[in-house]
Amino acid sequence: MSWETVIGLEVHVQANTRSKAFCGCATDFGAEPNSQTCPVCLGLPGALPVLNRQVVEYAIRTGLAANCAIAPRSVFARKNYFYPDLPKGYQISQYDLPMSVHGRIDVGGGTVRIRRVHLEEDTGRLQHAGDKLHRAWESYVDLNRAGVPLMEIVSEPDMRSADEAVAYLKQLHQLVRFLGVSDADMEKGQFRCDANVSVRRTGEPLGTRAELKNLNSFRFIKQAIEYEVARQIELIEDGGEVVQETRLFDSAKGESRPMRSKEEAHDYRYFPDPDLPPLRLSASEVDAIRAGMPELPGQMRHRFESEYGLSPYDADVLSTTRELAGYYEALVGAHAADPKRCANWLANELLGRLKERGIDIGDSTVTPPLLAGLLDRIADNTVSGKLAK
Ligand code: ADP
Ligand code: MG
Ligand code: ZN
Repeated sequence: MSWETVIGLEVHVQANTRSKAFCGCATDFGAEPNSQTCPVCLGLPGALPVLNRQVVEYAIRTGLAANCAIAPRSVFARKNYFYPDLPKGYQISQYDLPMSVHGRIDVGGGTVRIRRVHLEEDTGRLQHAGDKLHRAWESYVDLNRAGVPLMEIVSEPDMRSADEAVAYLKQLHQLVRFLGVSDADMEKGQFRCDANVSVRRTGEPLGTRAELKNLNSFRFIKQAIEYEVARQIELIEDGGEVVQETRLFDSAKGESRPMRSKEEAHDYRYFPDPDLPPLRLSASEVDAIRAGMPELPGQMRHRFESEYGLSPYDADVLSTTRELAGYYEALVGAHAADPKRCANWLANELLGRLKERGIDIGDSTVTPPLLAGLLDRIADNTVSGKLAK
């Protein structure tokens, strides 16, 4: 009998607000350690959190884009645990009453159901120094990241391969960037994924899962899932059993190792945060947020096909990012000729050359008016297509 892979993903997306979720501290990346802190995010006794309005709007946008139902009332909860990067001793999160539930995201012909989208705060960061040999360790705590807003998007276990998981993640990544709610820079940890992976014989109930923590590139996610699937199948075929645990992927070695046995929800002693009132959202407030949403990638793709007569393939390529789509529309606007020819020159010629040189479209010195001018010279036979290239 053959094996089936089952994957559910928990994705943490950093909202790109200028200030933190519950205090006025800045969220700038790379600042002097502990320079962006205050009594609230340091967890000093008596300091009271105040919810950032912009963060709520971004989380609702994300929930709406994931086709979720928005809860008229949601509750912030304390997730209690000890760790040196968490001076309060608890993380503010949402538990049984999250902001958004029951969504779905369509990915390449299939659908991934979204269990919930909720808001939480990030923790601080530890930095370790010293040398192993002499067991001389020093650890530093940087709390600049403590209290930075995160949107957590939890899927149902609907993916069946590492490739499907990566396709879903790429789509989600594109979505939050189009929404303008996150820069989602994976190298800066603004888009992080935990992958829950199990295997089962086709047709059987769900198997026991392992959770792979903090995967921060699409390539590692694919590697980590494939390693985990092979490990579980081998384990079971050798007569063993998968244990529910959290595993850490070592990208240098291409393998994962156990980090801790899986904690249960009751270990965290969740309870409603008495410092934060429930979040209430009226239907008209949600409607106002919906009305203010930017065009999403799928909508843009369709518009590019109908408005400019592009092939589905070109429409897809040119709507990869807002920057590229903006360049394309500026080019079409600056040029009298055919939008399809504009698409060809942009997608096939300019993009290829920028890619070779590792330049972003936004940094291209060949701007839309310049490329439009070149296309005009081809149209009036001043230069040949070959020369223009
Ligand atoms: P927890 O809150 O303990 O992390 P949840 O039940 O809320 O656990 O699930 C977390 C994630 O794990 C979800 O994305 C869900 O889809 C996924 N998941 C749950 N069961 C399985 C399973 N058997 N195999 C793969 N993924 C799973
Ligand atoms: Mg989890
Ligand atoms: Zn603060």
